[in-house]
Amino acid sequence: MRDPFEDPSGEDPANLDFCDEHETVFWKGMSCEKCLEEEHRTDARSGMTWWNGLTERERAEWMARAGNTGVAADAWAEFKRAADQPTGDK
Ligand SMILES: [Zn+2]
Repeated sequence: MRDPFEDPSGEDPANLDFCDEHETVFWKGMSCEKCLEEEHRTDARSGMTWWNGLTERERAEWMARAGNTGVAADAWAEFKRAADQPTGDK
């Protein structure tokens, strides 16, 4: 296995992918770091909006489901996880 964090410049272009938007190069099968960062920021914003729209009771519920870490992002992750598996699945 290649080290995905190794600097890929100078590698065989067949093994590399390119992000037009950020002009970054990365291993095929990986994702553009900057795209991921943006996704992460957008997601964090969505989480904040979600959290702010909850009642105290809902917050307590989701926080409990996330293991009472005291971190809103954990509750958000738990909410998304639950949303991914809508029925019956544990
Ligand atoms: Zn990108």
